[in-house]
Amino acid sequence: MAPYSPVYIPVPADWSIPPLHFQVHDSASFGSITFFDNVKPPALLLEAVLHVLKALYTPESAPRHVRSITLILRPMPGVAHTTSNQLDDAHKEIHLSSQYVAKNAGRARDEIYGVLVHEMVHCWQFDSGGTCPGGLIEGIADWVRLKAGFAPPHWSRTHPPEKWDAGYESTAFFLSFIEDKYGSGTVVKINESMRDGKKWDEGVFESVTGRGLEVLWGEYRRTFGRTSGGSGGGEPEVPTHGV
Ligand SMILES: [Zn+2]
Repeated sequence: MAPYSPVYIPVPADWSIPPLHFQVHDSASFGSITFFDNVKPPALLLEAVLHVLKALYTPESAPRHVRSITLILRPMPGVAHTTSNQLDDAHKEIHLSSQYVAKNAGRARDEIYGVLVHEMVHCWQFDSGGTCPGGLIEGIADWVRLKAGFAPPHWSRTHPPEKWDAGYESTAFFLSFIEDKYGSGTVVKINESMRDGKKWDEGVFESVTGRGLEVLWGEYRRTFGRTSGGSGGGEPEVPTHGV
């Protein structure tokens, strides 16, 4: 009888990946069972990390401060959030709602991957020491999710958002527009401009594209066939974001 050999998940040698932990609370819940029926936690965690690192960094530029990441699947309201261990900011925790997984059982795999990639960005991105717009932080997280191919079906570009930093997919689509028009690497440079608590300066948009933020925003809004104002069309809010 041949010795047992698990399916090997190769960890690319050029990336430094911290230990990836997984906890599940209430393992027999509908959401937990749905989770296990649709994803393999070791692959999910590793692939989410690699989506984030490859989108925002090179092996040389990747941050070294993250010492571990723990995914905690548990019953809780909402969708997901990322936090740090109470005693040490270098140990990250991603909390994912098992009820949310249950609610999205019909497309569980893509939604789990999408939410996890979003939250994983928060473990690794820079934020100008908290001085940059919160909508940019959430927008970069959803831009990586979009780039990774996990945009959920309800994300819509039908109406322009009110402001560039409206956050989530609204800002993600704006960043994607800039990347398409001015070259890939723009978001990488915006993220880099916020490294090590460097104060937020929206002039980074002009330095990386040659166009100021207001000009870029005007260009983006015109892709909707309108130039200013408007209510944005009253799309229903779909609570499928973590924070
Ligand atoms: Zn978020």
